[in-house]
Amino acid sequence: VSTVGFIGLGHMGHGMSLNLLKSSHKVIGYDLNEQVLNEFQKAGGVRATSIAEVARNSDIVITMLPKGAHVKSVYLGDDGVIANAGHGKLFIDSSTIDIETSVLVAEKAAKEGHRFLDAPVSGGEKGASNGTLSFMVGGDEATFEQATPILSLMGSSLFYVGKNGSGLAVKLVNNMLLGITMAATGEAFNLIERLGVDPKKFYAIASKSTGSNWALNENCPVPGILEESPASHDYKPGFAAGLMLKDLCLGQQIAINTNASTPFGALATSIFSMACHSGLADQDMSAVIKFLAGNKS
Ligand code: NAD
Repeated sequence: VSTVGFIGLGHMGHGMSLNLLKSSHKVIGYDLNEQVLNEFQKAGGVRATSIAEVARNSDIVITMLPKGAHVKSVYLGDDGVIANAGHGKLFIDSSTIDIETSVLVAEKAAKEGHRFLDAPVSGGEKGASNGTLSFMVGGDEATFEQATPILSLMGSSLFYVGKNGSGLAVKLVNNMLLGITMAATGEAFNLIERLGVDPKKFYAIASKSTGSNWALNENCPVPGILEESPASHDYKPGFAAGLMLKDLCLGQQIAINTNASTPFGALATSIFSMACHSGLADQDMSAVIKFLAGNKS
């Protein structure tokens, strides 16, 4: 039984850390937000007062933070994980961030004799609380094998991709595809409504036809078609449009770095950027349909 440190107990980290607590591991957690720390403590977690305390007292450290800048400061800061962890520990970062930051942290960790994996997830808050996340993992394969028991407590599908940064590569390209299909699905529903066809009928047919895709089938942007979809609950996320924009921007960065042409990715980035500026950032990404229809948020 090892002690697991968890830094970043927000929307995703909350459910993930609670699933670790259900196992026999001791879990020590830290977040800047007092409220989420209190909830973690109430669920049986050990509350730390600093990142350094987590790093010193854990065999494995998991991080679930918003952006690359947070990951950099949490791992590389003077009071951060690497400066305080000693030697030979396992670090797993599940944040969706830029590849450069992740690879830089992996290199600095290796220099101090630690192992580092990028292990971004898909499955959202629901997957985090149900322990059914998908992990796509980059790093040394033997390290992935060592991490498998702990990742299995939080996820039901574990995919090893390749070297450090490659888990993030898959995550960012997947989310670029999702952003494109979400916007395209909204556009299709707006057109069908103009044509006077019942969107429920369109859904029934298109979801079984060649237009079928996850954004249509599972995250249908028209209210009242799927009981469970965010659209049927005032577009409460789900996956917020603002987070989609963040991931699309990261996708454009890697496209520029590799000189790849991604015209649909670029267009989806612009559409989500305008949708977010129009006030939809905190709504589910399927609310992009309202922006495309010219509706006020
Ligand atoms: P969140 O903002 O709810 O949680 C992040 C937490 O990190 C916050 O509680 C914040 O206080 C904490 N934090 C920030 N800086 C810190 C620091 N220096 N020390 C300690 N704690 C710090 O975000 P989230 O929705 O949990 O997402 C986390 C990551 O997972 C993001 O990269 C996101 O893109 C990705 N992701 C989110 C979802 C989703 O549906 N929410 C799905 C897949 C992936």
